[in-house]
Amino acid sequence: MGRVNIYKPLGKRAGSRSIGVSRKRQTSSSVSPTDGSKKRSTLQMDLEVLECPICFETMTIPIFQCDNGHLACSSCCPKLSKCPSCALPIGRIRCRAMESVLRSISIPCPNAKLGCTKNVSYGLESTHVKECIFSRCSCPALDCDYTGSYKDICRHYYTYNSDPATVHLYEPLMYNISFNVRMNISDKIKIYVDDISDRLFAVQCFREPYGVCVTVSCIAPSAPELGKFSYHLSYTVDGDTMTYESADLKRIHKVSFQTPLEKFMLIPHSALRGEMLEMKLTIRKVNQV
Ligand SMILES: [Zn+2]
Ligand SMILES: [Zn+2]
Ligand SMILES: [Zn+2]
Ligand SMILES: [Zn+2]
Repeated sequence: MGRVNIYKPLGKRAGSRSIGVSRKRQTSSSVSPTDGSKKRSTLQMDLEVLECPICFETMTIPIFQCDNGHLACSSCCPKLSKCPSCALPIGRIRCRAMESVLRSISIPCPNAKLGCTKNVSYGLESTHVKECIFSRCSCPALDCDYTGSYKDICRHYYTYNSDPATVHLYEPLMYNISFNVRMNISDKIKIYVDDISDRLFAVQCFREPYGVCVTVSCIAPSAPELGKFSYHLSYTVDGDTMTYESADLKRIHKVSFQTPLEKFMLIPHSALRGEMLEMKLTIRKVNQV
């Protein structure tokens, strides 16, 4: 059974450490000095207490209760006409007590073993993991299943490039200047490496009946401390140029070969000349820290 550490600021009733967890279930309790001036108590409780009794998902605020006190999460509640347990009305009364229990809980980042020391609000782990600098990324080479931090991936990528038997092909990347991107549509992906700050960029093309979609992304978590990039992509055919500008170059943990639904340059079928795409790309550093 899953357990979670509960942190509670210690006030006047510091000794009681009662936060609605039954004595029977409470398996350990300790006081630890923590961040800032707040002292917190640590104890353990069953994760089931924090699950919606209807859908068994982690409850998120707002939480509702029926006239009898049975709970329903914010996604279940609108679908209910009455409480499934006792048939009394549900949806009018918020369960503020449970909401404040939820707000008070923080748990270690799921990447704690990889070195992240941050605590995150319970139920919001996935939001943090997208940004967590320790989150694992996947090598973009086809048929390679290596995973590691964004730096590991980058170093792995250019280490393997020295072996001609592998397909870890890349070109070096320079920021803020326009360079030619030449790729065969059936190659699907081309990798650029910034080996100074360990960043891998993927230019991908997706063939569709109506044309080819082109995207540029960076294989790294969207952690603010990793800075922000923008890009400018252009394609010229018969003297006409189409351009695509993105103010925020997408970060990804893993390349996907599914055609994106948004944020791509579309080269219509009528503008394609054979299998080779000749484009120009500029990647800019927007705010580097
Ligand atoms: Zn629910
Ligand atoms: Zn009820
Ligand atoms: Zn983290
Ligand atoms: Zn690899």
